[in-house]
Amino acid sequence: MTLSLRHEVLHLALRDPFRIARSDHDAGHAVTTLVIELRDPRFPGLVGLGEGYPDRFYGETIDTMVAVFPMLLAAVEGFEPTAAGVRAATARLQAAIRWNGGAKCAIDTAMHDLAGKVSGLPVHRLLGLSTDIPPTDFTLGLDEPSIVAERARRASGFPALKIKCGGPADIATLEAVRAVYDHPLRVDANTGWTPDIARQLLPALVDLGVELIEQPFPAGRLDWLRDLQATSPLPIVADESCVTIGDLDALVGVTAGVNVKLAKCGGPGAAALMLARAHELGFRTFLGCMEETSVAIAASAAVASLADWVDLDGNLLLADEPFEGLVLGEDHRWQLSDRAGLGVSRRA
Ligand SMILES: [Mg+2]
Repeated sequence: MTLSLRHEVLHLALRDPFRIARSDHDAGHAVTTLVIELRDPRFPGLVGLGEGYPDRFYGETIDTMVAVFPMLLAAVEGFEPTAAGVRAATARLQAAIRWNGGAKCAIDTAMHDLAGKVSGLPVHRLLGLSTDIPPTDFTLGLDEPSIVAERARRASGFPALKIKCGGPADIATLEAVRAVYDHPLRVDANTGWTPDIARQLLPALVDLGVELIEQPFPAGRLDWLRDLQATSPLPIVADESCVTIGDLDALVGVTAGVNVKLAKCGGPGAAALMLARAHELGFRTFLGCMEETSVAIAASAAVASLADWVDLDGNLLLADEPFEGLVLGEDHRWQLSDRAGLGVSRRA
């Protein structure tokens, strides 16, 4: 083994408290994420940056990530720093062990950053992808309706807002936001509704200009999702029900859309494959993120040209972003630069 990896656990404060409907999600005032530096003696002086977000809902903690890193490193050992080379290494990474998307994401991202730096290509070019990407929305967590509305007012420059729902005041919250914000609203219930609640809310959601409904029901209730989609004029988007590329087939005819995240599926290489396959199967695609730094957001932005909707705001939720180099344009599109690799580095 010649590859070496150094990991660092980051505990990062959030700008605003961030709650969602799932009680296992403990992001409140701070989040924990893990960044890595990957070195290969074949490429002296170059460092690949990666990030993986440990989410217990998907079976990961810092400890599980660190435990599988040696196995994942062995899978990418000797990767060729070319488009074909990283594609092959992503496939070996995916085959090494099932699940563990956050740990795979850290390694896959660092490998793409390093390969980009070796070959002189930005990651999106290494993946053969365009710089033409949709603008990102901005996400507001569960809180009192007046507080959510105040945050919506502050975020009114964004072309869409994603509103976390699944609490007792969903309609009051959406009405309060609508009073101060004119553009589309995307609703994410994070498994917090029942079919009865969804049926009751649906007409109001349509009236309020909601553009899509993300994961209203528990992950395993594809039957409930299918029934709601059959009667809903709004697209239903599977998130917790759609973790990896292997989940797509079972969602055909169930939901109109799927939410792809690098931390669920295993990095930019895996996400590019999953987004392309989702389109082949007729899904509309939403590219999401966790509360991550701009290492993970830059890796996500590299594949965002494959998405219909983009929700890449994790780093914008942080009080102090530890990395720099990723720039949000005035049109709220992440700017994909010509710099080699991810184009981000640690703040001095
Ligand atoms: Mg979601």
